[in-house]
Amino acid sequence: MPIGFVALPVGIAGPLVLDGRTYYVPMATTEGCLVASTNRGCKAIGESGGAQSVVLRDGMTRAPAVRFGTAARAAELKFFLEDPANFDTLAIVFNRSSRFGRLQGIKCSLAGRNLYMRFSCSTGDAMGMNMVSKGVQNVLDYLQTDFSDMDVISISGNFCSDKKPAAVNWIEGRGKSVVCEAIIKEEVVKKVLKTSVSALVELNMIKNLAGSAVAGALGGFNAHASNIVSAVFIATGQDPAQNVESSHCITMMEAVNDGKDLHISVTMPSIEVGTVGGGTQLASQSACLDLLGVKGASLESPGSNARLLATIVAGSVLAGELSLMSALAAGQLVRSHMKYNRSSRDMTKAAAS
Ligand code: ADP
Repeated sequence: MPIGFVALPVGIAGPLVLDGRTYYVPMATTEGCLVASTNRGCKAIGESGGAQSVVLRDGMTRAPAVRFGTAARAAELKFFLEDPANFDTLAIVFNRSSRFGRLQGIKCSLAGRNLYMRFSCSTGDAMGMNMVSKGVQNVLDYLQTDFSDMDVISISGNFCSDKKPAAVNWIEGRGKSVVCEAIIKEEVVKKVLKTSVSALVELNMIKNLAGSAVAGALGGFNAHASNIVSAVFIATGQDPAQNVESSHCITMMEAVNDGKDLHISVTMPSIEVGTVGGGTQLASQSACLDLLGVKGASLESPGSNARLLATIVAGSVLAGELSLMSALAAGQLVRSHMKYNRSSRDMTKAAAS
């Protein structure tokens, strides 16, 4: 029963110089300071020659839960699924679901007589949840012939793991796993970020690494990756609930070039994005994807638009980390929030006028 839309302010941060190209990154957020801060991070990256990224892995996962009469029988299916000799047959069955879904592997885990099978597949430019679920259903139907005593409990058994914090995504990855890095010059740290390389390195160690360890963090070794991830997700029509695992990020900062410059990196193992399907088709969201040059399906190389979007998310997180950490190091955080978040301007009216 759709009744309308909820309007959100959208700003752009940029230019973000990433892998030799420039992007203006749309961010939908009610936190005014966030866009300004990410923009400052982009400036520091740009003035230092840009950031570089690598997609380490690309595969969406779904893990059904099935039950047998005994644990021994559940183990039999585990060995069958993990036997390389059976992969080709399973892939043919799985891949029938879509032109784009291609089985990459199956990882199994037991809890007594319950078996959890984590299927991973490439999904072209789609985020891929529908695609992987259809492929998994094909395999479950196929398995029922030889394992007729298999009781399918649920197509999702939480070992996937979708929209919940889970070590499996942090360690194995889900969606796109991306690393993004930049070397920020000493003078840029001083001039644009108003702090020093040594202050940033120390703060990163005490806050993002030791502080998160003290908190028992799971994938949360960063300052505010989820701020940027959610804002870009909402602007570009991604599923905002997947912000949970998409924001897993470890931020590293080290002094390089004889201690003068700053090497910063963000490693994000489970960025779940797509440029087709879901909310990406809506007019405003599609316009935001277009702004980034990643709208819709890539005809030449299916999947390259979605992978590029994932690198832009990581590049924007890098900018956000750089700026917030600098504000904290310089003790500016509260002041800037008072300035940018206490605006009396009504953004919905500003957008309409
Ligand atoms: P999701 O799996 O992310 O939930 P949907 O199933 O809603 O996505 O959307 C994917 C649909 O888009 C599929 O029907 C697929 O065949 C189609 N499609 C067209 N081009 C592409 C592409 N380049 N990559 C992935 N899917 C594509």
